[in-house]
Amino acid sequence: MEVSIHLEKIITQPIEVNWLHSNNTKLNVLRLDLIHPVISGNKWFKLKYYLATALANKSASIGTFGGAYSNHIVAVAYACKTSGINSIGIIRGEEPSVLSDTLLDAKHYGMKLHFVNRAAYRDTEIIKQHFEDTYWIEEGGYGTEGVKGAAEILAFAKNSQNYSHIICAVGTGTMMAGIIQSAQSHQTIIGISTMKGNFALHEKVKNLLDDKNQNNKYKIMHEYHFGGYAKHPSQLLQFMNETWQHQQLPTDIVYTAKAFYATKQMILENTIPKGSNVLMIHSGGLQGNRSLPDNTLLF
Ligand SMILES: *Cc1c(COP(=O)(O)O)cnc(C)c1O
Repeated sequence: MEVSIHLEKIITQPIEVNWLHSNNTKLNVLRLDLIHPVISGNKWFKLKYYLATALANKSASIGTFGGAYSNHIVAVAYACKTSGINSIGIIRGEEPSVLSDTLLDAKHYGMKLHFVNRAAYRDTEIIKQHFEDTYWIEEGGYGTEGVKGAAEILAFAKNSQNYSHIICAVGTGTMMAGIIQSAQSHQTIIGISTMKGNFALHEKVKNLLDDKNQNNKYKIMHEYHFGGYAKHPSQLLQFMNETWQHQQLPTDIVYTAKAFYATKQMILENTIPKGSNVLMIHSGGLQGNRSLPDNTLLF
């Protein structure tokens, strides 16, 4: 049975825990993960306008790029299926003998997968030439259409104007740019980079912002990557299990666990001042946890 997207399931979950009380800080989590068990919350928002453009152009297919566990790949496959347009996934690396759950889902949603070795994968322009009448979306949905969709996320948070700080995980920076775009001038947006030493992000986010938003308050933190993109040492897994047990908050190994951990540390270390009212965006991504051995997580 197919499960459809349910935006009405999004909730703003209050977090009750000692490290908040002792710092007189409030924390809520915007649960975009609840819209679908596999389709990542922020990806759905980011894809909306790319899809509309591809349909308006009457393109035969939508093509995009990603790795074997990519939230973006499976979200594109699903979005294309619901819109009745063909999808093409250019997958980084040689075809494995056993496909990941992510790729199996993408295939199930009708995506045509093409495996490309790592060297060739870098030359996207050459790859694109092999496909006719195809509307291309950059890896991770980076770009202004993605920002436009992500700018609709905050409207799902109750009383969103009351938050002093808004925290989100950062991959390409597209979601963060959308949040900055739609935030109020008194709010500070903090992005948690999930890659090691990805300092080019500052420029990438800046390039996505309109002139009128360039002066909005935002910063990107680089110390919460836990070893690098998708790295998940046992300390992180333990934190995820504790977060589930104590806050009933499921997180994913690539993005949201690191964002939640960063939120806790920044509150404890007063990087976020006492008395703040914080919103963390739970951007989804839980499907990626399927790459872990069984019983690693309690949820
Ligand atoms: C892709 C993704 C992000 C990062 O979004 P960007 O717009 O690429 O920065 C964050 N969280 C989850 C769950 C994602 O799937």
